[in-house]
Amino acid sequence: GPTRPTARGAKAGGAAASRVNSGARGATAAKKGTASGKSSKSDSVNGDGDDGKTKKGQYEGPDPDLAEMLERDVLETTPGVRWDDVAGLTEAKRLLEEAVVLPLWMPEYFQGIRRPWKGILMFGPPGTGKTLLAKAVATECGTTFFNVSSATLASKWRGESERMVRCLFDLARAYAPSTIFIDEIDSLCNARGASGEHESSRRVKSELLVQVDGVNNSSTNEDVCITHDRSMRRLEKRIYIPLPNFESRKELIRINLKTVEVAADVNIDDVARRTEGYSGDDLTNVCRDASLNGMRRKIAGKTRDEIKNMPKDEISKDPVAMCDFEEALKKVQRSVSQADIERHEKWFNEFGSA
Ligand code: ADP
Repeated sequence: GPTRPTARGAKAGGAAASRVNSGARGATAAKKGTASGKSSKSDSVNGDGDDGKTKKGQYEGPDPDLAEMLERDVLETTPGVRWDDVAGLTEAKRLLEEAVVLPLWMPEYFQGIRRPWKGILMFGPPGTGKTLLAKAVATECGTTFFNVSSATLASKWRGESERMVRCLFDLARAYAPSTIFIDEIDSLCNARGASGEHESSRRVKSELLVQVDGVNNSSTNEDVCITHDRSMRRLEKRIYIPLPNFESRKELIRINLKTVEVAADVNIDDVARRTEGYSGDDLTNVCRDASLNGMRRKIAGKTRDEIKNMPKDEISKDPVAMCDFEEALKKVQRSVSQADIERHEKWFNEFGSA
Protein backbone atom coordinates (compact mmCIF):
# COMPACT_ATOMS: atom_id res chain seq x y z
CA GLY A 1 0.00 0.00 0.00
CA PRO A 2 1.06 3.59 -0.27
CA THR A 3 1.26 4.04 3.47
CA ARG A 4 4.65 2.68 4.25
CA PRO A 5 6.25 3.28 7.59
CA THR A 6 8.43 6.29 7.41
CA ALA A 7 10.27 8.13 10.06
CA ARG A 8 12.54 7.08 12.77
CA GLY A 9 13.67 8.67 15.92
CA ALA A 10 16.48 7.73 18.12
CA LYS A 11 18.73 8.14 21.05
CA ALA A 12 20.73 6.25 23.57
CA GLY A 13 23.64 6.47 25.87
CA GLY A 14 20.82 5.55 28.04
CA ALA A 15 18.03 6.37 25.69
CA ALA A 16 15.85 5.46 22.78
CA ALA A 17 13.33 7.19 20.66
CA SER A 18 10.48 6.23 18.50
CA ARG A 19 8.54 7.77 15.72
CA VAL A 20 4.91 6.94 15.55
CA ASN A 21 3.80 8.03 12.22
CA SER A 22 0.21 7.23 11.68
CA GLY A 23 -3.03 6.65 13.40
CA ALA A 24 -3.47 3.10 12.29
CA ARG A 25 -5.50 1.25 14.81
CA GLY A 26 -8.19 -1.27 14.06
CA ALA A 27 -10.61 -0.08 11.45
CA THR A 28 -8.47 2.91 10.71
CA ALA A 29 -5.69 0.70 9.45
CA ALA A 30 -7.99 -0.94 6.95
CA LYS A 31 -9.15 2.42 5.80
CA LYS A 32 -5.63 3.57 5.28
CA GLY A 33 -4.95 0.53 3.20
CA THR A 34 -7.49 1.62 0.64
CA ALA A 35 -6.41 5.20 0.48
CA SER A 36 -4.35 5.56 -2.64
CA GLY A 37 -3.03 8.93 -3.79
CA LYS A 38 -1.67 9.86 -0.43
CA SER A 39 -0.51 13.41 -0.29
CA SER A 40 2.97 14.07 0.93
CA LYS A 41 1.79 16.52 3.49
CA SER A 42 2.67 15.17 6.88
CA ASP A 43 -0.76 15.93 8.28
CA SER A 44 -2.33 13.46 5.94
CA VAL A 45 -0.37 10.69 7.59
CA ASN A 46 -2.84 10.96 10.38
CA GLY A 47 -5.03 8.51 8.53
CA ASP A 48 -8.19 9.39 10.41
CA GLY A 49 -9.58 11.75 7.86
CA ASP A 50 -12.28 9.79 6.08
CA ASP A 51 -15.19 10.19 8.41
CA GLY A 52 -13.77 12.95 10.57
CA LYS A 53 -14.89 11.00 13.62
CA THR A 54 -11.53 10.79 15.31
CA LYS A 55 -9.85 14.02 16.26
CA LYS A 56 -6.14 14.35 16.59
CA GLY A 57 -5.15 13.51 20.10
CA GLN A 58 -8.33 11.67 20.86
CA TYR A 59 -7.37 8.57 22.78
CA GLU A 60 -9.72 5.65 22.32
CA GLY A 61 -7.89 2.87 24.11
CA PRO A 62 -8.79 0.99 27.24
CA ASP A 63 -6.82 3.18 29.69
CA PRO A 64 -8.12 6.74 29.59
CA ASP A 65 -6.74 7.52 33.06
CA LEU A 66 -3.27 6.36 32.16
CA ALA A 67 -3.51 8.23 28.88
CA GLU A 68 -4.43 11.38 30.72
CA MET A 69 -1.46 10.96 33.03
CA LEU A 70 0.87 10.44 30.07
CA GLU A 71 -0.57 13.45 28.29
CA ARG A 72 0.18 15.50 31.36
CA ASP A 73 3.63 14.11 32.16
CA VAL A 74 5.36 13.15 28.95
CA LEU A 75 3.72 15.08 26.16
CA GLU A 76 5.63 18.14 25.08
CA THR A 77 3.56 20.04 22.60
CA THR A 78 6.28 22.39 21.47
CA PRO A 79 9.84 21.25 22.05
CA GLY A 80 10.84 24.23 19.88
CA VAL A 81 14.36 23.05 19.09
CA ARG A 82 15.67 23.82 15.60
CA TRP A 83 18.52 22.09 13.78
CA ASP A 84 20.58 25.21 14.28
CA ASP A 85 20.23 24.97 18.04
CA VAL A 86 22.19 21.74 17.92
CA ALA A 87 25.92 22.35 17.64
CA GLY A 88 28.06 20.08 15.49
CA LEU A 89 26.81 16.53 14.92
CA THR A 90 26.51 17.19 11.21
CA GLU A 91 26.46 13.55 10.24
CA ALA A 92 23.82 12.71 12.85
CA LYS A 93 21.66 15.53 11.57
CA ARG A 94 22.06 14.39 7.99
CA LEU A 95 21.14 10.81 8.89
CA LEU A 96 18.12 11.83 10.91
CA GLU A 97 16.96 14.08 8.13
CA GLU A 98 17.25 11.27 5.64
CA ALA A 99 15.67 8.73 7.94
CA VAL A 100 12.90 10.75 9.50
CA VAL A 101 12.28 14.14 7.97
CA LEU A 102 12.47 13.40 4.26
CA PRO A 103 10.33 10.22 4.39
CA LEU A 104 7.61 12.27 6.01
CA TRP A 105 7.80 14.82 3.22
CA MET A 106 7.96 12.33 0.37
CA PRO A 107 6.61 8.98 1.48
CA GLU A 108 6.09 7.86 -2.12
CA TYR A 109 9.80 8.02 -2.76
CA PHE A 110 10.80 6.11 0.33
CA GLN A 111 9.37 2.77 -0.77
CA GLY A 112 10.80 -0.65 -1.44
CA ILE A 113 14.57 -0.63 -1.38
CA ARG A 114 14.40 3.02 -0.39
CA ARG A 115 12.25 2.35 2.65
CA PRO A 116 13.49 4.39 5.56
CA TRP A 117 15.65 2.91 8.25
CA LYS A 118 13.52 1.08 10.75
CA GLY A 119 15.29 2.83 13.51
CA ILE A 120 18.20 5.01 14.25
CA LEU A 121 19.85 4.56 17.54
CA MET A 122 21.91 7.38 18.96
CA PHE A 123 24.29 6.41 21.62
CA GLY A 124 27.18 8.04 23.36
CA PRO A 125 28.12 9.80 26.57
CA PRO A 126 25.46 11.79 28.43
CA GLY A 127 24.92 15.46 27.74
CA THR A 128 26.03 15.36 24.11
CA GLY A 129 22.79 16.43 22.48
CA LYS A 130 20.80 13.26 21.87
CA THR A 131 17.66 14.59 23.50
CA LEU A 132 18.15 17.86 21.72
CA LEU A 133 18.40 16.06 18.36
CA ALA A 134 15.21 14.11 19.02
CA LYS A 135 13.46 17.35 19.88
CA ALA A 136 14.81 19.00 16.77
CA VAL A 137 13.48 16.13 14.68
CA ALA A 138 10.08 16.52 16.30
CA THR A 139 10.12 20.27 15.73
CA GLU A 140 11.30 20.05 12.14
CA CYS A 141 8.72 17.39 11.33
CA GLY A 142 5.95 19.04 13.27
CA THR A 143 5.36 15.82 15.18
CA THR A 144 3.97 15.47 18.65
CA PHE A 145 6.79 14.82 21.06
CA PHE A 146 6.57 12.27 23.87
CA ASN A 147 9.49 12.56 26.26
CA VAL A 148 9.60 9.51 28.48
CA SER A 149 12.31 8.42 30.84
CA SER A 150 13.01 4.77 31.38
CA ALA A 151 12.93 5.32 35.10
CA THR A 152 9.33 6.36 34.63
CA LEU A 153 8.60 3.27 32.62
CA ALA A 154 10.28 1.00 35.11
CA SER A 155 9.24 2.36 38.42
CA LYS A 156 6.65 5.09 38.56
CA TRP A 157 3.86 2.89 37.41
CA ARG A 158 5.41 -0.32 38.62
CA GLY A 159 3.20 -3.21 37.86
CA GLU A 160 1.47 -1.23 35.17
CA SER A 161 4.48 -0.72 33.00
CA GLU A 162 3.38 -2.83 30.07
CA ARG A 163 0.00 -1.22 30.10
CA MET A 164 1.77 2.09 30.10
CA VAL A 165 3.94 1.25 27.13
CA ARG A 166 0.91 0.12 25.17
CA CYS A 167 -0.98 3.20 26.21
CA LEU A 168 1.95 5.39 25.22
CA PHE A 169 1.95 3.97 21.71
CA ASP A 170 -1.83 4.20 21.42
CA LEU A 171 -1.65 7.78 22.51
CA ALA A 172 1.17 8.50 20.09
CA ARG A 173 -0.95 7.08 17.30
CA ALA A 174 -3.82 9.28 18.35
CA TYR A 175 -1.50 12.26 18.11
CA ALA A 176 0.27 10.99 15.00
CA PRO A 177 2.59 11.80 13.54
CA SER A 178 4.46 11.53 16.79
CA THR A 179 7.94 11.10 18.10
CA ILE A 180 8.43 9.01 21.20
CA PHE A 181 11.68 9.58 22.95
CA ILE A 182 12.73 7.16 25.66
CA ASP A 183 15.60 8.41 27.72
CA GLU A 184 18.02 6.33 29.73
CA ILE A 185 16.88 3.17 28.06
CA ASP A 186 20.02 1.40 29.17
CA SER A 187 18.75 1.66 32.71
CA LEU A 188 16.24 -0.88 31.50
CA CYS A 189 18.56 -2.86 29.33
CA ASN A 190 21.73 -2.91 31.35
CA ALA A 191 20.02 -4.88 34.04
CA ARG A 192 19.42 -7.66 31.58
CA GLY A 193 20.50 -10.97 32.92
CA ALA A 194 21.63 -9.51 36.18
CA SER A 195 20.24 -11.20 39.20
CA GLY A 196 18.80 -8.01 40.56
CA GLU A 197 16.78 -7.28 37.49
CA HIS A 198 13.28 -6.29 38.32
CA GLU A 199 10.46 -8.29 36.93
CA SER A 200 8.71 -5.08 35.96
CA SER A 201 11.75 -3.88 34.07
CA ARG A 202 11.92 -7.13 32.17
CA ARG A 203 8.26 -6.83 31.28
CA VAL A 204 8.64 -3.27 30.04
CA LYS A 205 11.46 -4.36 27.79
CA SER A 206 9.39 -7.20 26.38
CA GLU A 207 6.51 -4.88 25.71
CA LEU A 208 8.80 -2.40 23.99
CA LEU A 209 10.11 -5.19 21.83
CA VAL A 210 6.57 -6.21 20.97
CA GLN A 211 6.01 -2.66 19.84
CA VAL A 212 9.19 -2.75 17.77
CA ASP A 213 8.00 -5.93 16.10
CA GLY A 214 4.68 -4.28 15.49
CA VAL A 215 6.55 -1.60 13.62
CA ASN A 216 8.21 -4.12 11.41
CA ASN A 217 5.17 -6.21 10.67
CA SER A 218 2.38 -3.78 10.21
CA SER A 219 1.62 -0.49 8.64
CA THR A 220 1.37 1.31 11.91
CA ASN A 221 4.52 3.23 11.14
CA GLU A 222 6.23 3.12 14.44
CA ASP A 223 9.78 2.88 15.42
CA VAL A 224 11.26 2.14 18.70
CA CYS A 225 14.93 2.39 19.15
CA ILE A 226 16.27 0.46 22.04
CA THR A 227 19.84 0.31 23.10
CA HIS A 228 21.95 -2.64 23.91
CA ASP A 229 22.05 -6.33 23.28
CA ARG A 230 19.56 -8.13 21.22
CA SER A 231 17.23 -5.18 20.96
CA MET A 232 20.03 -3.03 19.70
CA ARG A 233 20.56 -5.31 16.74
CA ARG A 234 17.02 -4.65 15.62
CA LEU A 235 17.97 -1.16 14.68
CA GLU A 236 19.30 -0.79 11.22
CA LYS A 237 21.22 2.36 11.79
CA ARG A 238 23.30 3.23 14.78
CA ILE A 239 25.17 6.42 15.22
CA TYR A 240 27.67 7.42 17.78
CA ILE A 241 27.14 10.84 19.31
CA PRO A 242 30.57 11.80 20.58
CA LEU A 243 31.79 14.52 22.86
CA PRO A 244 32.09 17.78 20.94
CA ASN A 245 35.35 18.47 19.15
CA PHE A 246 37.06 21.86 19.11
CA GLU A 247 34.88 23.32 16.36
CA SER A 248 31.69 22.03 17.94
CA ARG A 249 32.73 23.40 21.30
CA LYS A 250 33.15 26.84 19.75
CA GLU A 251 29.73 26.56 18.16
CA LEU A 252 28.26 25.40 21.47
CA ILE A 253 29.72 28.35 23.31
CA ARG A 254 28.36 30.75 20.70
CA ILE A 255 24.90 29.16 20.86
CA ASN A 256 24.95 29.38 24.63
CA LEU A 257 25.92 33.04 24.64
CA LYS A 258 23.29 34.08 22.11
CA THR A 259 21.10 35.80 24.68
CA VAL A 260 23.77 37.72 26.59
CA GLU A 261 26.14 40.51 25.83
CA VAL A 262 29.74 39.33 25.52
CA ALA A 263 32.77 41.47 26.22
CA ALA A 264 35.42 41.92 23.56
CA ASP A 265 38.04 40.19 25.68
CA VAL A 266 36.24 36.84 25.62
CA ASN A 267 38.38 34.45 23.63
CA ILE A 268 36.07 31.68 22.52
CA ASP A 269 38.90 29.72 20.92
CA ASP A 270 40.72 29.74 24.21
CA VAL A 271 37.68 28.54 26.15
CA ALA A 272 37.10 25.83 23.55
CA ARG A 273 40.71 24.73 23.75
CA ARG A 274 40.55 24.45 27.50
CA THR A 275 37.33 22.46 27.56
CA GLU A 276 38.52 19.35 25.79
CA GLY A 277 36.53 16.40 27.14
CA TYR A 278 33.61 18.58 28.21
CA SER A 279 30.18 17.51 27.00
CA GLY A 280 27.73 19.95 25.48
CA ASP A 281 25.92 19.94 28.77
CA ASP A 282 29.15 20.77 30.65
CA LEU A 283 29.80 23.64 28.28
CA THR A 284 26.30 24.95 28.79
CA ASN A 285 27.01 24.92 32.50
CA VAL A 286 30.27 26.80 31.99
CA CYS A 287 28.50 29.46 29.96
CA ARG A 288 25.61 29.71 32.36
CA ASP A 289 27.93 30.06 35.29
CA ALA A 290 30.12 32.61 33.52
CA SER A 291 27.11 34.66 32.52
CA LEU A 292 25.96 34.88 36.13
CA ASN A 293 29.29 35.98 37.55
CA GLY A 294 28.77 39.65 36.75
CA MET A 295 25.64 39.71 38.86
CA ARG A 296 27.35 37.77 41.64
CA ARG A 297 30.08 40.38 41.83
CA LYS A 298 27.53 43.19 41.90
CA ILE A 299 25.55 41.80 44.79
CA ALA A 300 28.48 40.49 46.83
CA GLY A 301 28.42 41.87 50.37
CA LYS A 302 25.10 43.63 49.89
CA THR A 303 22.03 43.13 52.03
CA ARG A 304 18.82 41.74 50.64
CA ASP A 305 17.18 45.14 50.69
CA GLU A 306 20.10 46.76 48.95
CA ILE A 307 19.96 44.08 46.27
CA LYS A 308 16.22 44.46 45.85
CA ASN A 309 16.60 48.20 45.41
CA MET A 310 19.46 48.06 42.95
CA PRO A 311 18.48 49.34 39.53
CA LYS A 312 18.02 46.37 37.20
CA ASP A 313 20.31 47.79 34.55
CA GLU A 314 23.03 48.14 37.15
CA ILE A 315 23.06 44.37 37.52
CA SER A 316 22.91 43.55 33.82
CA LYS A 317 25.20 46.34 32.71
CA ASP A 318 28.46 44.40 32.45
CA PRO A 319 28.82 42.05 29.53
CA VAL A 320 30.15 38.56 30.21
CA ALA A 321 33.92 38.87 30.34
CA MET A 322 36.87 36.53 30.10
CA CYS A 323 37.40 36.69 33.86
CA ASP A 324 33.88 35.29 34.25
CA PHE A 325 34.93 32.34 32.15
CA GLU A 326 38.13 31.89 34.15
CA GLU A 327 36.05 31.50 37.29
CA ALA A 328 33.48 29.26 35.66
CA LEU A 329 36.18 26.97 34.27
CA LYS A 330 37.57 26.49 37.74
CA LYS A 331 34.18 25.47 39.03
CA VAL A 332 32.69 23.39 36.25
CA GLN A 333 34.58 20.20 35.54
CA ARG A 334 34.05 17.69 32.78
CA SER A 335 31.41 15.15 33.71
CA VAL A 336 32.28 12.30 31.39
CA SER A 337 35.14 10.10 32.49
CA GLN A 338 37.64 8.44 30.21
CA ALA A 339 36.17 5.09 31.25
CA ASP A 340 32.74 6.26 30.09
CA ILE A 341 34.09 7.25 26.73
CA GLU A 342 35.85 3.94 26.32
CA ARG A 343 32.72 2.06 27.22
CA HIS A 344 30.71 3.93 24.60
CA GLU A 345 33.37 3.53 21.97
CA LYS A 346 33.46 -0.16 22.65
CA TRP A 347 29.71 -0.30 22.06
CA PHE A 348 30.16 1.57 18.84
CA ASN A 349 32.81 -0.80 17.58
CA GLU A 350 30.56 -3.68 18.41
CA PHE A 351 27.22 -2.30 17.28
CA GLY A 352 27.86 0.79 15.23
CA SER A 353 26.77 0.82 11.64
CA ALA A 354 27.11 4.36 10.41
P1 ADP B 1 21.84 13.82 26.03
O1 ADP B 1 20.42 13.56 25.62
O2 ADP B 1 22.84 13.41 25.01
O3 ADP B 1 22.16 13.28 27.40
P2 ADP B 1 20.97 16.54 25.95
O4 ADP B 1 20.53 16.63 24.55
O5 ADP B 1 19.88 16.40 26.98
O6 ADP B 1 22.03 15.39 26.15
O7 ADP B 1 21.83 17.82 26.31
C1 ADP B 1 21.76 18.45 27.55
C2 ADP B 1 22.00 19.95 27.38
O8 ADP B 1 23.35 20.17 26.97
C3 ADP B 1 21.16 20.55 26.29
O9 ADP B 1 19.94 21.01 26.79
C4 ADP B 1 22.03 21.68 25.76
O10 ADP B 1 21.92 22.79 26.61
C5 ADP B 1 23.42 21.13 25.93
N1 ADP B 1 23.93 20.45 24.73
C6 ADP B 1 24.46 19.21 24.69
N2 ADP B 1 24.85 18.88 23.45
C7 ADP B 1 24.56 19.94 22.67
C8 ADP B 1 24.72 20.22 21.27
N3 ADP B 1 25.28 19.35 20.43
N4 ADP B 1 24.32 21.43 20.82
C9 ADP B 1 23.76 22.33 21.65
N5 ADP B 1 23.57 22.12 22.96
C10 ADP B 1 23.97 20.94 23.49
